[in-house]
Amino acid sequence: MDILKNITDRLHGSITEANFEGANIVLYTNNERFFKEGESKIKEIVNELKKRIELRADQKILPEQERAQEDIKKIVPSEAEITNIIFDAHRSIVIIEAKKPGMVIGKQGSILNEIKKTILWTPQVQRTPAIKSQITESIREVLYANNNYRRKFLNEVGKKIYKEWNPEKVEEWVRLTFLGGARQVGRSCLLLQTPNSKVLIDCGIDVASQGKDKFPYFDIPEFDIRELDAVIISHAHLDHTGLLPYLYKMGYKGPTYMTNPTIDLAALLALDFIGVAYKQASVPLFSSKDIKEMVKHTICLNFNEVSDITPDIRITFYNSGHALGSSMVHFNIGNGLHNFLYTGDYKYARTRLLDPAISSFPRIESVLTEATYGAKSDILPPRIESEEKMIEIINKTIERGGKILIPELGLGRAQETMLILEDAMKSGKMKKIPVYIDGMIWDINAIHTAYPDFLSNNVKSSVFQDKNPFISDIFSRVGSHQERKKVIEGEPCLVLATSGMLVGGASVEYFREFAVNEKNSLIFVCYQGVGSLGRQVQEGLKETKMMVDGREESVKINLEINTIPGLSAHAGRNEIMAFFNNMRPKPKKIMVNHGEVSKCLDLASALYKLNRVETCVPRILETIRLR
Ligand SMILES: [Zn+2]
Repeated sequence: MDILKNITDRLHGSITEANFEGANIVLYTNNERFFKEGESKIKEIVNELKKRIELRADQKILPEQERAQEDIKKIVPSEAEITNIIFDAHRSIVIIEAKKPGMVIGKQGSILNEIKKTILWTPQVQRTPAIKSQITESIREVLYANNNYRRKFLNEVGKKIYKEWNPEKVEEWVRLTFLGGARQVGRSCLLLQTPNSKVLIDCGIDVASQGKDKFPYFDIPEFDIRELDAVIISHAHLDHTGLLPYLYKMGYKGPTYMTNPTIDLAALLALDFIGVAYKQASVPLFSSKDIKEMVKHTICLNFNEVSDITPDIRITFYNSGHALGSSMVHFNIGNGLHNFLYTGDYKYARTRLLDPAISSFPRIESVLTEATYGAKSDILPPRIESEEKMIEIINKTIERGGKILIPELGLGRAQETMLILEDAMKSGKMKKIPVYIDGMIWDINAIHTAYPDFLSNNVKSSVFQDKNPFISDIFSRVGSHQERKKVIEGEPCLVLATSGMLVGGASVEYFREFAVNEKNSLIFVCYQGVGSLGRQVQEGLKETKMMVDGREESVKINLEINTIPGLSAHAGRNEIMAFFNNMRPKPKKIMVNHGEVSKCLDLASALYKLNRVETCVPRILETIRLR
């Protein structure tokens, strides 16, 4: 059945062109009256077909851009502070960037509606980031510069989705293959297959591993890059996205679905990954050209937005509370035949930065959960205790004239730590000391402020009230080698630096310099991967070989080592159990991955005992039939 012809026929003669933008259907009309008044007719069809349909004006009836721009400025109140107006003539769209987007939208969209009816161009509103974010700007530029390519690409994606469009059709089987991330943390990657679809879920790298173990298994008969219909990314951490640009380098040309903040963060982390490779004098896996290809082929979805991605798979992203834009992915397969939830990484507790993960869903038969802190012993202490312990270590270290290093994951943890420090200093719990931010944490802060809607209510309202905690003057940015040298040689201070596991990045340099002095402290706040320097130090390593000025030297580790598990961005054992306890509806099958073997097995057996559902812990390369 041809869905576009079906719709066009019903609207007799009003439609000049119909095409796809991914799963959405876009109709163009040269009938001004129908454009302004045809809404109810479109709504009827939307209700019946359950597809998103948008009506736009045909290029032929659009007023000149200059005139439209003048009209926009007349209609929108000046308090909205418009910073940019960009016309996408191929799609009859005008993008309005403003500091206060709510004032461009108006009550229940009233201002937006007035704009649309006056200028006939379809307005879209974007927030001007409060901190200038180079990466967010570059990504918007790449998309604007490739407008025409995007239009064709999105139309092709839609054609594929609706190729065998048949709302009644039911398929018989669903299979899930573990290409990575099974019984381990790192290189998360799954292949979901039905008779009609092949979809990749996450595409990660294990940064703590060496050689072949770094990457998911792509050299197996079931995986053929040419047959891949779509890729879905749960969140931007490298163990979930690290290899995505490489997929485009190898010739993948299809869509990747993720949230808006996730693509900005993924592009930034990928660029940093190239930089780290160069610093370690190795050849990077991909280039910035491949990252650009990734951006060009990304389709962003909001939380709770249902979208078809293949003829028989529909996905919805739900907040997972783990990092900015991080999602649980709900799959509706075969029009209700099977509902599968991929949790990705999640936090089932309120943090300063984010709201907790969602635990109620429309329907669920099977779940794949993470198990980073899945063992019996992984009950995380209360956050407030953990925060107090952190402040105590900092105060003690400063008193004895030492420096503190907190290696951070850059995304998520670093922002949480900054919120804790800002609050502690403001309330006098912590001494006023210099806090230095090094590595790409600063750029990630900028992306956080560009998407305040994804943050917890508290942080969101601070950002809106121009009390943005990320630009508080207690934080100083370390931008150059000289500045870093000053921090290393200077007064007692606190340093937040990437990477979190001491595998490359600024944190390794600080560690090398701080390690020998027993007055200094190191605080681990995030997960330390097996094999990483961080893990070895955490387990009591007393000496290690490191590069100093191009020569390998022995470094004594005398500084005080602390681990504060309670600040983790992952759900602890108690949170995972509570998540399944509260989950609605109840699943029939729970699979466990993204955890060390013993933790996965321990969690699976506890979930079985408590919920009396089938549980399993797949091995890498194993395929599970979901239905
Ligand atoms: Zn993660």
